[in-house]
Amino acid sequence: MATKASMKCSFCGRDKKEAKLLIAGIDGHICEVCVEQAYDIVKEESRTTFDKDTELLLPNNLTPSDIKAHLDMYVIGQSEAKKYLSVAVHNHYKRLNYVLNTKDIDVEIEKSNILFIGETGTGKTLLAKTIASFLDVPFTIVDATVFTEAGYVGEDVESMLSRLLQACDFNIEAAERGIVYIDEIDKIARKNDNPSITRDVSGEGVQQAMLKMLEGTEVQVPPQGGRKHPEQKMITLNTKNILFICGGAFSGIDKIIARRLNTQVIGFSQDPDAVVDIDNLLQYVSHKDLKSFGLIPELIGRMPVLTYLNPLDKESLVRILTEPKNAIIRQYEKLFELEGIKLSFTPETMQLIADKALEYKLGARGLRSICEAILTDAMFELPSQKDVTIFEVDESYARGQIDKSKLNKLKAA
Ligand code: ADP
Repeated sequence: MATKASMKCSFCGRDKKEAKLLIAGIDGHICEVCVEQAYDIVKEESRTTFDKDTELLLPNNLTPSDIKAHLDMYVIGQSEAKKYLSVAVHNHYKRLNYVLNTKDIDVEIEKSNILFIGETGTGKTLLAKTIASFLDVPFTIVDATVFTEAGYVGEDVESMLSRLLQACDFNIEAAERGIVYIDEIDKIARKNDNPSITRDVSGEGVQQAMLKMLEGTEVQVPPQGGRKHPEQKMITLNTKNILFICGGAFSGIDKIIARRLNTQVIGFSQDPDAVVDIDNLLQYVSHKDLKSFGLIPELIGRMPVLTYLNPLDKESLVRILTEPKNAIIRQYEKLFELEGIKLSFTPETMQLIADKALEYKLGARGLRSICEAILTDAMFELPSQKDVTIFEVDESYARGQIDKSKLNKLKAA
């Protein structure tokens, strides 16, 4: 046992009188200063080990075409958006590895946050979701419309990070490498041209609030989100390696693009050299158009990768029904198979489903509701008819089911 005479820190030799605290061990003592130093060493050491681990986890050797090949399995068409996304994600990880492994960073590589523009139901969220599950990083989808400037009714922008933390069980290191998909970013566009007259708490104010977060900063995140729990202890999260993917339909931006391109949305270009595809003007979208739409230049600057999604035509809709790994038709086939029934659709039925989705203007989002309308009766009745083992959906049956469903009301809307 240590005697009173030897009551000094076994690490730095500080005497009991000099130390505020001396903790006794089996064969020695340690003072509070050495405890702190030891803690720092442990922290630093575990951080390096963690970095080494993550370095292996980060898919540095994945080429953009590997990434695109994976997206192709789940998302039909949209090759331009896939290309941009693959390159952006590849660069994101190159940048992450560079930052983690380089001591003297001579060139600061900026983040490649992405902005998708495209009509609803064309695959924006699906692309973001697919890339996150491929990379096996935490992912969350948030809706920009719920946010307001701090101090106003609504949610603070920080709460989107609460969702990310919740998605990975509050593993801060994992969240700091996650992906956040911000939907409906177009809804926070500035409503009027003169922001100084009225305060625009849900538009420009929110854009301002997002700036630092998108660029990369330490954010105090309420773990439970929202403002309902004022007593909650904040978690510090650094967003510099979080990839933000934003998406929006930007309805009406085609007119802005057309004006810039000096053409009319309706009608034909007079100049035969100016070959402008007026049916799909989104492909010409530029950062300038976003500014005219009402996004502030600082926010636009923080989403350097801008790309568009094509409206889905009939052929793509039919492909979406059957081709992706978890295609809707495959899901229903599985459901019926579990019941011992072989389900099939005639090619005409597929065409009809695609036609109806186009008619209801719901993009691919409508496909599931249409299939549901066609199959609900069968899913209700067949489980009690044990002798049925085959069920083929032909066009006339499908049409009958759609006609009697409430889907038809969508047409009137
Ligand atoms: P949005 O563009 O509005 O974000 P989503 O990505 O949420 O649209 O699409 C809604 C649903 O439609 C998806 O869950 C998916 O099933 C289907 N879908 C949309 N676009 C595609 C596509 N290009 N390829 C495959 N499925 C798609």
